[in-house]
Amino acid sequence: MKIAMLARNADLYSHRRLKEAAETRGHDFHIINTLRCYMNIASRRPEIYYNGEKLEGFNAVIPRIGASITYYGLAVLRQFEMMRVYPLNESVAIGRSRDKLRSMQLLARDGIGLPVTTFAHDPKQTEEVLELAGGAPVVIKLLEGTQGIGVVLADTNRSAKSVVEAFRGAGVNILLQEFIKEAGGIDIRAIVVGNRVIAAMKRTGAEGDFRSNLHRGGSAQVIRLSPEERATAVRAAKTMGLNVCGVDMLRANHGPVVMEVNSSPGLEGVEKATGYDVAGKIIEYIEKNANKGSTKTKGKG
Ligand code: ADP
Repeated sequence: MKIAMLARNADLYSHRRLKEAAETRGHDFHIINTLRCYMNIASRRPEIYYNGEKLEGFNAVIPRIGASITYYGLAVLRQFEMMRVYPLNESVAIGRSRDKLRSMQLLARDGIGLPVTTFAHDPKQTEEVLELAGGAPVVIKLLEGTQGIGVVLADTNRSAKSVVEAFRGAGVNILLQEFIKEAGGIDIRAIVVGNRVIAAMKRTGAEGDFRSNLHRGGSAQVIRLSPEERATAVRAAKTMGLNVCGVDMLRANHGPVVMEVNSSPGLEGVEKATGYDVAGKIIEYIEKNANKGSTKTKGKG
């Protein structure tokens, strides 16, 4: 098969691994810098150009679109979809997952466990929103944050209020979330491919940090998920419409709660912690599913 991967940095571990896994299986693999693609979007015959050449003959595309270039990246992916190239994850699903509020609303609608989460635009409602989230201790998150930056734990209502006011004063959007203390600074990441969890790890925060992000000094180990945790991860992926994703969960007293569904999960932490060939499973999934034109939305979203 001829496979394109939309990515900006060919040297990232995840990108190198996907290329290696595809080439080992005999596929023709091209890393395409998303931002260097250009296209005529008003043409009836959708085309994409790259380095002066028309991209042609691709069977599948792996979108690895960074959060900072979501808007342009999804436009390029939609163009591929309109050319009837099979997307590993569809543009519509990625768009959904990039919007934290929309994702949580969809997950809640489908009855998937979530931490109590509240949101308001107007800082005048801070006290009410804080109360709705159950009061301190409470987690305050920037809507646009990644890798644990912009995730704050406030121990008292007073500090929560000042943090909210500071963020709102700076014009950034935030949400408030019940602090799942019993998670003990550990979160779970399940990698879903199709209808299965193919690998899972737990991440433990650095000493004294309630955040378990690897980028924040956390460490990863393989973990065996309960059937309920597996089912939750698979259902979350389905709700988002993602074929491949990383589902981040916390172990709450009342069962697993989903924090985030990531459409481009990093492979390094999970492959190193579990020893599984996650990249190989992703390529296998493409081999089984990339029938020409089988994308459901065909770029209409
Ligand atoms: P990001 O998307 O920036 O990684 P997360 O929402 O995943 O931010 O939060 C970062 C870390 O903080 C999580 O991995 C988890 O360990 C911890 N955390 C986040 N939300 C909660 C919460 N509601 N209760 C307890 N710990 C949390």
